[in-house]
Amino acid sequence: MLKINNLHAKVEDKVILKGLNLEIKPGEVHAIMGPNGAGKSTLGYVLSGREGYEVQEGDVSFKGEDLFEMDIEERASKGLFLAFQYPVEIPGVSNMEFMKESVNATREQRGEELLSATEFLKKAKEACKQVQLPLDFLKRGVNEGFSGGEKKRNEIMQMILLQPSLCILDESDSGLDVDALQVVANGVNSQRDSARSFIIITHYQRLLDYIKPDFVHILADGKIVKTGDASLAHEIEKEGYAFLGKEYEGVS
Ligand code: ADP
Ligand code: MG
Ligand code: MG
Repeated sequence: MLKINNLHAKVEDKVILKGLNLEIKPGEVHAIMGPNGAGKSTLGYVLSGREGYEVQEGDVSFKGEDLFEMDIEERASKGLFLAFQYPVEIPGVSNMEFMKESVNATREQRGEELLSATEFLKKAKEACKQVQLPLDFLKRGVNEGFSGGEKKRNEIMQMILLQPSLCILDESDSGLDVDALQVVANGVNSQRDSARSFIIITHYQRLLDYIKPDFVHILADGKIVKTGDASLAHEIEKEGYAFLGKEYEGVS
């Protein structure tokens, strides 16, 4: 699904990723943890093609093709989905219109039939119910005035509607109450299958009580420095990042 080889990237002249390697097979769930400022969000942004993030070295293949040869729309239509850490507001454009456009753009790229307004509305209502958002969220401006928890639920709804093949969720547990956390986790778990892969970026072990990862990676100073199974997340919860060296003592 995804193969990252020796990735170096910078933003605003600051080198952030410093030789990152990661391989994700179809159906796998990988959690990425790490201290603040390690480069976790940067990794998500580089993969999604966000402006301002410059790749200096290394390569990434996504479904066997060079990811960096694809523009943002192509990445999305080939099935890459990034749930943003700070989702943008688009006042004046309803959630429903926005989602319908995105879903149909993706279907068009894949050579699938476009959904009619009625067909889309049916799917959107189901997804809305699944993430426990009231139906009027479909009519509201994209993320306009949404609370943190509502934005996260909305992202999961987008994911369910878009049916991506690789989902990257960044700090989707930040500021979430237990109910919202479970909605995020249930949303992810409902979409898990042998073909779809996930990268779950998180500070806390908490989310991983609900989403059982196949692998847990520790990202520090721009590289994956340790890989393990779900038990690694529990170790971090208990011990913090002291094993990384003196500068990380007391950091968790
Ligand atoms: P994490 O998500 O692991 O907390 P980030 O990827 O957000 O870390 O950030 C990694 C480092 O890059 C941090 O030191 C951060 O301050 C820096 N950084 C991120 N974005 C920018 C930017 N636009 N300009 C300058 N520095 C940035
Ligand atoms: Mg951070
Ligand atoms: Mg971050």
